Amino acid sequence: MRHFATAVETIEQLKREVKAIDQSLLLPWQKSDAINTFITTKLSFHLKCGTVPKKPLNELDALIKKVGKKWLNLPITASCEPLYLPYAAGGMNIIPTSILADISTVSHAFRLLTSNDRTTQKLAYDSMKEIVEKRMKKEPTMEEMAEFYNGSKSENIPQKGNDVSSCWTQLRGAQTLMSKTSQGRVYNVTAKNPASNHFYRNGNFTRLTEWNFIHRARLNIVPLNGGTKRFFLKDQSCRKCKYPCETLQHVLNNCEPSFEAMTKRHNAVVDRLMDGFKQRKKKTQEILLDKIIPITSSTLRPDITIIDTQNKEVILVDVTCPFENLPAAFVKARERKLEKYQSIKAELEDQGFNL
Ligand SMILES: [Zn+2]
Repeated sequence: MRHFATAVETIEQLKREVKAIDQSLLLPWQKSDAINTFITTKLSFHLKCGTVPKKPLNELDALIKKVGKKWLNLPITASCEPLYLPYAAGGMNIIPTSILADISTVSHAFRLLTSNDRTTQKLAYDSMKEIVEKRMKKEPTMEEMAEFYNGSKSENIPQKGNDVSSCWTQLRGAQTLMSKTSQGRVYNVTAKNPASNHFYRNGNFTRLTEWNFIHRARLNIVPLNGGTKRFFLKDQSCRKCKYPCETLQHVLNNCEPSFEAMTKRHNAVVDRLMDGFKQRKKKTQEILLDKIIPITSSTLRPDITIIDTQNKEVILVDVTCPFENLPAAFVKARERKLEKYQSIKAELEDQGFNL
């Protein structure tokens, strides 16, 4: 590994590496993994070793943001959360470089203040106090110091000053920035269960066409005619069925010419579940696929029924693919199914079955 004289040069090198990753033949999810594995770790090492100015860091950040969105097939104007959320919450697990720098600053300051060496500790505390004193032009109380370093904008603290640049003034900047990062988050439904995001890290079971579609779909920025802010479009109707408003929900769940594809989607889920059930089937269990349950009078055919007459147990599985709107959509879909199979449940329970 080559050594670079300054932090700026290091970041220039990291930028070249990000570009090399971008131009490589890696798959999109491998590219963001490469950022996390090689770029972020190198950078955090350099941040620990000394002060890195924010400007080149922000440039590196902007570059990662730009190529990262390209890897997710998102337009440049799309929101950044899909890049920065953890894998389990439906993101690419990337840490913004400026945040990385802030974490490093805060932990460095904390290490100084809690040092085992009394002299270091006192020196750290005194210089911390001195900066607040210079700004306030009087000896600060403990509360005023806390307020200052928490990035408070209160009247007590004059906003302008010629602070000596030190890790303490940087610390104040870091706190201000952190308070801005709690932005509203998308992915209300998908973040609830890590299974919804299993493919983010390694692209398992995922084709590129699906990859290119899903991030746009999850942000609801698929280029469709209807229901968007682009009200200037005269014709918002569906290109397939002429339904007046071509929204994502319409295309994925309600458009009649696509019903065949929707059935295929539903059956693919059922098949996947069947594979799993067949492998773990006990000797006493019998699995029915899309069949009337013979021991009941109902004519309903649940997708999968697993009957165990010996242990008096029935597992009933019915698959539905609701539009991932809000968690409420899933709760409602579940309630509808429970209602639909209520009579079967009652009948089986009368016969002493557990459902
Ligand atoms: Zn349609």
